[in-house]
Amino acid sequence: MAAKGHRARFQDRREHLYDFLDEVLVRCPRCTACAVVVPRPSTPPDRTKPPGAPHPDRRLRCDTCALVRDTTATTLTFGTPHDPYFHHPLWLQADVRGHILWAYNAQHLTLLETYVSAHLRERGTAAPAAPTSLLERLPTWIKSAKNRTKILQTIHHLHATLPPPDTPAGPQP
Ligand SMILES: [Zn+2]
Repeated sequence: MAAKGHRARFQDRREHLYDFLDEVLVRCPRCTACAVVVPRPSTPPDRTKPPGAPHPDRRLRCDTCALVRDTTATTLTFGTPHDPYFHHPLWLQADVRGHILWAYNAQHLTLLETYVSAHLRERGTAAPAAPTSLLERLPTWIKSAKNRTKILQTIHHLHATLPPPDTPAGPQP
């Protein structure tokens, strides 16, 4: 959203999926509203840790039905439209021509939107991606020109399903 109408080159700030783990939006396993998976209270944030070492202590919290579940994850799963800890379906996911577009939270979704928007304007040039970044690991279909309009439409739709900032678990769509 921030990049809309802005002509500056997109710069990969070398985000990693781990940078978005402090708040992962999921579909509540009890009421299907938007719930959130966060570090358990007193758990340090992950972003200063090296890749491969996200903290396993997490809490799922649903403000709609008051569900609270804690876990110490033994298996973390990345690269699928599920939260890495409880393995519940992500809130932010949608089909784009047979592929699943997904994001952990609003910041992650905005990063994808900014990237796809900028890439559109720089068609024919290589994306300035860092070797280890989240963006360079994106699947080819996200970078494909023929999918970009559809992807941006989908991202806008997903943004609209986000709960208001002040109420982490908003009304169901
Ligand atoms: Zn719930």
